[in-house]
This record gives sequence, structure tokens and C-alpha cells, in this order.
Amino acid sequence: MANIPQQFASDNYAGICPEAWAALQAANDGSSVAYGNDDWTIRAADGLRALFESDAQVFFAFNGTAANSLALASLCQSYHSVICSSSAHVETDECGAPEFFSNGSKLLVAPTPDGKLTPQAIRDLAISRSDIHFPKPRVVTVTQPTETGLVYTPDELKAISATCRELGLKLHMDGARFAHACATLDCAPADITWRAGVDVLCFGGTKNGMAVGEAVLFFDTALSEDFGYRCKQAGQLASKMRFLAAPWVGMLESGAWLKNAQHGNACAKRLAAQIEPLTGVGLMFPVEANAVFLRAPEAVLQGLRDRGWLFYTFIGGGARFMFAWDAKVERIDELAADIRSLV
Ligand SMILES: *Cc1c(COP(=O)(O)O)cnc(C)c1O
Repeated sequence: MANIPQQFASDNYAGICPEAWAALQAANDGSSVAYGNDDWTIRAADGLRALFESDAQVFFAFNGTAANSLALASLCQSYHSVICSSSAHVETDECGAPEFFSNGSKLLVAPTPDGKLTPQAIRDLAISRSDIHFPKPRVVTVTQPTETGLVYTPDELKAISATCRELGLKLHMDGARFAHACATLDCAPADITWRAGVDVLCFGGTKNGMAVGEAVLFFDTALSEDFGYRCKQAGQLASKMRFLAAPWVGMLESGAWLKNAQHGNACAKRLAAQIEPLTGVGLMFPVEANAVFLRAPEAVLQGLRDRGWLFYTFIGGGARFMFAWDAKVERIDELAADIRSLV
């Protein structure tokens, strides 16, 4: 059955990339030990440890909301709070799951015009109150790249983690598109995680080309105590874990995790380059990963909708376009041509 013509409303519109699919198929061979005690899961966790040059504790969850929420819950008591950006996915798109799974740890939202947290914004919130009536700041969460498509450099992360350490805060990273940040920075994954002071990473597999699945890496392994129980209680322990783990093996061993992200980033640049020369429309944020935010008058946005384009406008009213592993350049050029013809 035919699917819809390719759209860029979300990187989750994409299918499964061949490398993840092949590994899934390879894992579907006979029987295997359940609940994560199988060879695929061990290989995936070892592969992640090798990629990150770390002896991190690794867990697999079905989606990003669960990974983030459970990771944050593991860092907090119910009376703690989590500092995040006002546009953070944990704040705007997880239906209160971080608060729910932590039994009430409150998100403290820093106003951030571009979605990026700064040491100053963290400090302002963290020291704003120190009395018994206010939930005690305990964690900072950053999204890498941000929901606005911006990438934190290693130095920016080091400055944030230095502030965290000074204030007694743990640092969590929502890496739903972590691979795209690695592709942009052309750095080792360690350089923007544990070497920059990140304690826990949620590494997105879904938006990187898998059907489903996120990895949670505890670089500070002491923080992972009992995390397995937390996953199980939250319904996140896959009984046939090999099918969650095998695609990671396929992605890591083939290099697809990085190749897919490089492609998504290049596609975003391709669209951005065709928007930049136009008058009357523009880019809302610098294009540093696989997102393009088009600022345009409502008539242009409506014109795009009328021509069948799907997109979200939940960040700042502009049109968001996201590019996944399978984005086709012809389709990007069609979108660019439609934008051109409407301005
Ligand atoms: C997509 C995304 C997630 C994960 O969302 P799920 O739908 O729960 O998988 C988490 N954080 C960010 C920034 C995202 O874009």
C-alpha cells in the first residue's frame, strides 16, 4: 500500500534504516534468552561502551519520554527539582512524565529565547531560593541538539557542568538527536558527554533510523543503582529485549548511527541554503543539526499547507522541517521551490 509522499514534519515520519532492519532480521533467528540476558543486548551495550570509551551502565527503553523521565527520576527524590529550558521536550512534550515518574520532582523552567541553557540561567534558578518551601534543585537537563536545532559545543557543556558541580547538581542530557550533534561537531561522543561532565545520557535511536528504542547511559555508574527495577516498574523492560538491542548493534557496527545523522544535517543545510537568499521569509535559528525553522508570514505557511506540506509551528510560530536518514534531495528541492513561489 502506498504511503504519503515524503514529508518533513517530523524525523519520526521516516521508516527503519536498512542497517537497523537487517540486524532486527538477524536477531529473529531461533530462540534467545529473555529480558536482556541475551547476546544481542550484551553486544549492543558493549558497542555503546566502546563508542563512548566508557564503562557506562547501559539500559534500553522503548521511547524518549520514558528514557528521560526514568533517568531524571533516578537522579531525584520527590522533593527535588530539575532545571530545564522553557522549550525542553521534558517540559513541553512529555505530558508531565518526568514529574509523574519521580513522584513529583518539579521542573524549573529557565526562559531561553533560543532553547539553549546557559550557566547564568542555571545559576539564577538554582540560587533563586534556598528555603524549605521550594523544591531543592538537584538536576540540570540539556537537550543536545536543542529542540530548536542548536548544538552545544564541548566548551559550552563544560561550562554548564562546572556550574552544576559548583551548585551540587547532576547533569542529564536528552540526546534524542545526539548523533546529529556528533555529526555537526565531528567530535567523539565522549567529548560532549562524560568528558564534558554529563552524568547521564538518553541516546536516541528512533530518530536516528531505528523503529523504536533509546539507550540510557549512566557515565556515573553509581547513579544507575536500581535503574533496572525502575524500568521494569514503568513497563519499560522489554521481555524480548534482543529486538530492542539488535538494531543498536546494526547501527553501531555499520556506522549508520553517524552516517544517518550526517545525511539529516546535510539535508537541513540544503533547505536552509535555498531559504537564505529569499526576502520576506527567513531562518528562525541557525541551522546546526537536522532542523530548519522557517519564519514566514501566515499566508506563506497556509500556502505550503494548501500544497500538501505538513509541518508543526509549536516553536515560535514558524514552520519546522526535520530531516531523517531517508530524506530525499528531490523532495527538499520541491519544498524549497514551493517556498520560493509563495514569497
Ligand atoms: C523526539 C524527542 C524525544 C523522545 O520522544 P518520544 O516520542 O517519547 O520518543 C525526546 N526529546 C526530544 C528533544 C525529542 O525531540
